Amino acid sequence: MNIVYIGLGANLYAPQAQLHKAVETLHNHPDIAELKVSSFYGSKPMGPQDQPDYVNAVATFSTSLDAEQLLDQLQMIEQQQGRVRKENRWGPRTLDLDILLFNNTTIDTPRLTVPHYGLCDREFVVFPLLELDPLLCLPNGTALKDIAATLPRNGLTSLPMTHNKET
Ligand code: ATP
Ligand code: MG
Ligand code: MG
Repeated sequence: MNIVYIGLGANLYAPQAQLHKAVETLHNHPDIAELKVSSFYGSKPMGPQDQPDYVNAVATFSTSLDAEQLLDQLQMIEQQQGRVRKENRWGPRTLDLDILLFNNTTIDTPRLTVPHYGLCDREFVVFPLLELDPLLCLPNGTALKDIAATLPRNGLTSLPMTHNKET
């Protein structure tokens, strides 16, 4: 079994509901078990600022899928929820599912960079990860809490719990 951490993000069409729906799909997936999800956070967009704020969360689970198979499944879920891949990176989207960590390994292939290249710079990833595991470390041994110590929160807020509401 592989232990995985993924990041979830959305800023279009009821973003909290998009995240709830993605979590439900992961929960029901036959190759995914022991799913745990952080609370939801509000964050400022990266790149183009003329787009709505984001809702972000992270999740961890165990899976028998290898990393590329998992990426296929995550991209399928993005598609099912109406993700339209545009030329401009970091534009608005209904759902983004990124592999943050895969076991304690590094992966560098044309399709996959793991740990995710933005992990250490993104407050909407680092703080939710610490919520799931305050002792989490990167494959190079760096403790995530040490990264968080100098990382600006950049307006990151904890969102109140919702239950699949259209917000
Ligand atoms: P960013 O990667 O900066 O968060 P993004 O998530 O919007 O931007 P996408 O359009 O979702 O970017 O993905 C672009 C490509 O990134 C994908 O086609 C995928 O092959 C590649 N990729 C590389 N490493 C990863 C990873 N760890 N998780 C998800 N996709 C990855
Ligand atoms: Mg992303
Ligand atoms: Mg992505």
